[in-house]
Amino acid sequence: MGGKDCDDLLHELADLLHGEMPADREAILHQHLDDCPPCMERADFQAQLRALVAKRCCEDVPSDFKARIAELLHGSPGGSPSQEPIS
Ligand SMILES: [Zn+2]
Repeated sequence: MGGKDCDDLLHELADLLHGEMPADREAILHQHLDDCPPCMERADFQAQLRALVAKRCCEDVPSDFKARIAELLHGSPGGSPSQEPIS
């Protein structure tokens, strides 16, 4: 863990939180989070930070988008990491 992949992931995470993440990149990011607890923690922090900022700025963040982020960050319930296609 550590290194360039993780730095790249955090940059990608910003795009994801802005809703600018293509599904294929999102899948790669999700897989990295599953394999990399430090990034998972940072991702969770960034998501919370983003939510806080969005709330304060009255930014229009669709609730289903936030739910999707939460789902992404916490993984599928009870499931092992899989290669399911994201529609
Ligand atoms: Zn990482």
